[in-house]
Amino acid sequence: MRILLVEDEKALRKVIQLNLELENYEVIAVEDGEMAIQKFESEHFDLIILDLMLPKLSGLEILKTLSVKHANLPVIIISAKDTSSDRIKGLKSGADDYLSKPFEIEELLIRIQNLLKRQGEKNNQQELEIVRFGNCMINFKTFEATKNETKIELSQKELHIIKYLIQHKNEVVSRHDILKSVWGYDVFPSTRTIDNFIASLRKHLEEDPKQPKHIKSIHGVGYKFLDH
Ligand code: CA
Repeated sequence: MRILLVEDEKALRKVIQLNLELENYEVIAVEDGEMAIQKFESEHFDLIILDLMLPKLSGLEILKTLSVKHANLPVIIISAKDTSSDRIKGLKSGADDYLSKPFEIEELLIRIQNLLKRQGEKNNQQELEIVRFGNCMINFKTFEATKNETKIELSQKELHIIKYLIQHKNEVVSRHDILKSVWGYDVFPSTRTIDNFIASLRKHLEEDPKQPKHIKSIHGVGYKFLDH
């Protein structure tokens, strides 16, 4: 788990970093708002610990950027501002938790654990809604899809198959897996049928269907979806 720690007080930053590392978290620590934004824009984090009073950009301003681009990233505010209106402002701005300074490191660790656990459960439950890859967008709620901003028509089965592939992105799925998931146990079309559907999906979604970038064939095994 990677944690971004944004805190300008050097002593506190060191103490938190050390304690988190002892718990086997990977910690990237920065001391001002601009460096914070630069970090989470360019690297992946599982959680952010955010001070509010910071040089260059305040914690609340950072939260604004976060809520637009990384709404799912859990944030714990740590702040010397400890009135209830400060807490409400922080939580309303998208923070998930708020810890007033001074605090026990133990309490911070417990709150981090709880938040990461909750986030893990949320990620598991989250239904696919809108997915983007290459020049394509698929909205699984409205069953609409576009390539290069132009509407494309995907059949119900095609949508099911691409959804299954996306849900297992970066994994190899066999034709049998797809059959089981999309057709269930009742009807068993031949695996050749899957290949036909895949060919059609590539025609719709790939820039060059003959050299697919997203729906890859894994020889002798099945298919693998890549979103980059
Ligand atoms: Ca501060």
